[in-house]
Amino acid sequence: MSEKQEDSLSPFMRQYDQTKKSYPDSILFFRMGDFYEMFNDDAITVSRVLDLTLTKKRCGDGKSAPMCGVPYHSVEVYIAKLMQAGFKVAICEQVTNPQDGVKLLQRQVVRVITPGTVTDFQMLDDKKNNYLMCLYKEGQNIGVTYVDITTGEFTLSQIGDNLENSLTDLLTRVCPSEVIANDEGQKFYQALPLLSLGQLPKAQTYYDWAFTDTRADENLKRQFGDNYAKVYELAGKRTLLLSSGAVLEYINETQKRLLKHINKLSIIKNSSFLTIDVNTRRNLELVETIRDRKKQGALLSLLDKTKTSMGGRKLRKFFDEPLQDAKEINARLDAVDEFVKNIRLREQLAQVLQGISDIERLSGKLGYGNIYPKDMVSLKDSLNLLPTVKALLVDVQSQRLVCCRDSIVDFSEVASVLDKALVIDPPAVLKDGGFIRNGFNTQLDEYRDALSHGKEWMSELEAKEREETGIKNLRIDQNKVFGYYIEVNKSQSGLVPLRYQRKQTISNNERYVTEDLKIIEEKIQGAKDNAIELELLLFNKLRTMLADYVVQLQKTAVAIAEIDALLSFALTAVKYNYCRPSISKQNKQIKIVDGRHPVVEAYLKSDNFIPNDTFLNDSTDRTMIITGPNMAGKSTYMRQVALIVFMAHIGSYVPARAAELPIVDRIFTRVGASDDLAFGQSTFMVEMSEVATILANATDKSLIILDEIGRGTSTFDGLAIAWSVVEYICQHFKAKTLFATHYHELTELEGVIDGVKNYKVAVKEVDDQVVFLRKIVRGGANKSFGVEVARLAGLPQEVLSRAKEISKNLEAVNTKLDLDIFKDKKDKAQAVNKKALALYNRLRDVDITRVSPMFAFDLLNDLVNVAKSEEE
Ligand code: ATP
Repeated sequence: MSEKQEDSLSPFMRQYDQTKKSYPDSILFFRMGDFYEMFNDDAITVSRVLDLTLTKKRCGDGKSAPMCGVPYHSVEVYIAKLMQAGFKVAICEQVTNPQDGVKLLQRQVVRVITPGTVTDFQMLDDKKNNYLMCLYKEGQNIGVTYVDITTGEFTLSQIGDNLENSLTDLLTRVCPSEVIANDEGQKFYQALPLLSLGQLPKAQTYYDWAFTDTRADENLKRQFGDNYAKVYELAGKRTLLLSSGAVLEYINETQKRLLKHINKLSIIKNSSFLTIDVNTRRNLELVETIRDRKKQGALLSLLDKTKTSMGGRKLRKFFDEPLQDAKEINARLDAVDEFVKNIRLREQLAQVLQGISDIERLSGKLGYGNIYPKDMVSLKDSLNLLPTVKALLVDVQSQRLVCCRDSIVDFSEVASVLDKALVIDPPAVLKDGGFIRNGFNTQLDEYRDALSHGKEWMSELEAKEREETGIKNLRIDQNKVFGYYIEVNKSQSGLVPLRYQRKQTISNNERYVTEDLKIIEEKIQGAKDNAIELELLLFNKLRTMLADYVVQLQKTAVAIAEIDALLSFALTAVKYNYCRPSISKQNKQIKIVDGRHPVVEAYLKSDNFIPNDTFLNDSTDRTMIITGPNMAGKSTYMRQVALIVFMAHIGSYVPARAAELPIVDRIFTRVGASDDLAFGQSTFMVEMSEVATILANATDKSLIILDEIGRGTSTFDGLAIAWSVVEYICQHFKAKTLFATHYHELTELEGVIDGVKNYKVAVKEVDDQVVFLRKIVRGGANKSFGVEVARLAGLPQEVLSRAKEISKNLEAVNTKLDLDIFKDKKDKAQAVNKKALALYNRLRDVDITRVSPMFAFDLLNDLVNVAKSEEE
């Protein structure tokens, strides 16, 4: 805008424009009385996104600016929607009170809300952390810092090799709501294939100067103390220092305050977790279903029996960070075990936890400085329950539970102060007071006394005025705009004495004030103002008192969260009859007895899930080739194996009668066919890239689930790819693999490739109908039953009969072709065997001490000839 144009603006619009200049990439919410207004481009954008009416405001020089607004009391709803749409919102408040003669109030941006810095409970998922992430990339190193400002969690992770995969894994686990980065980091992040799924935010390039050593050092010192580098062993870890420093800079810039509850940092190693890539997470439906991305129907919602939000978040963290350390896993299992075996403890604890609110996020609010009386009351109610939790855990033996119990701090003194200070059900807003209890402060009681006397004085005045004027229905009342007034029906206004000053006329009545009325009103108002001011003062004192306990509150919250999550495992284990898995580094095999799919089992109406065994080791039984008709239960079976392994790694009991499991480093799945047309990938392309990822990253310790490979192309190509993939896996690593296929030809691999074993899902054929037995047995299936399953699905009879006819013809042709495909390989194998046998037979009968040199020469010559003939 030119200087001239600016001059012609009204003072208000000039103020708006100047403020907006400092927040060009945020939507500016400009407070005007009871509304937040938006203008110009912001107004046009927001009216479109939030479906609000676009109006106009005169902005000087006869011109007008587009405008829309939202009421201040429900602003959270609108901000939440803008956050979901990826916007930032700068909140600009009036910082002076309206005064006579002063037309333009002063305004100031008090905070910028961004998707990663939301603190309002209404905008947050209570069972999920909300992370702001910062990346600093320099050559082959990336420093990553992620922060949840609602809980104070501040985590650092260094990535030094295999950058793309490692960052992808980290992002899959952390799922940040907002990402900032240096220029190099931003470009690298934006180019990650993971971004094409559309589930992660775009990264924003942050100021270069925020990523400098001095700035980072200043920020880290301010947040974590002068000794931070020593305490957290950060000296020399440049990328971590810079990513942490910049994220703190961003927090200061947007929140405009120091967040005291961010008081410690932790550095984690990516390799300490079982890696589950984004496809596998989706395919196994760990936290949401594939089809409609709902929580209901996913494993997490089945296992989540937590009673508190903190526990819910901890459980989610267990899901996101499956362990690799058998000791840690078993420590969790010991705790679950203890709960499973003690029904009284389980039930009583569940009951008590139910009453505990989100101490973790409440301490975050305390540190942030936006805690309200209602929050304090729920905090106090929760603190009052802590001694009961501790008492219930008094006899626990498992190391995790002992540790959690001992971390719960006793807050009885604090709770007792809050008890005395706050009313049971305080109002939601501060400004009208009414939250401090009578009897807590003598001065406040006196003001309140005056206030109630004032009301008596008003009643007395009303009676006196009625008598003096003779107007029987004269009454004294008040409203927010005019304060107190005397109201008289219009028909009687003739009786009103001269000392009455008219203030307002409404349809049937006239409203007046008198000198006496004004004096009493002033006294009442004075007492009211004083009382509110004092209440606010007292409340601030409570805030300050509680702020000293933030660290202890956080420590307690972490303990309660863990107890709750472990208890949740136990509650599910008991409800669904799970068993404790035996898991250790020494175990080399997966041995599951009567395993079940936890989610399918839970959703089956009757009690008829058919359990199945699994046996895989790192030698003879490395790959299961599973065949069977459509709908037989192949996918369910393979997923159940993966889920059982996953559940064990998060420390949960598993759906089986017994389970012996090794420590697994990665679970890979390639399941089903799905187009990714929006991102330019066909079904087959998606399938092949997933397979490529698996082959590039699997190790001896991985578990691989392959459900139908090669279905997206022609039969021969598909079969050839499936064949060579199995071969490759078996020859290159000892990963345990489950491979379901409709290519029955692959069952030929047993005996040809080491470690391959055939399994099929048993079915019975009764009168041309197929009956699914859901039992996994040894052997290969030789029929697909596709047409029979299509009948179950209700295809017209005409189509089915014709399909059967065609299928018969095709089978005849295929049998010949199939034999041709494998003939070569089998013939070769047989020829080799035959010749080896011939050589062996010749050699077996030779007594080396008795043969002549000539005989030896002839023999050698024969052997060489036999061997050579094999090569041709
Ligand atoms: P397709 O080859 O067509 O993909 P599939 O062999 O993979 O079929 P699934 O999708 O695993 O078959 O299973 C089909 C249905 O059978 C499941 O949705 C489930 O309802 C039921 N089912 C699977 N396994 C069992 C079981 N062990 N006990 C009871 N019901 C089962």
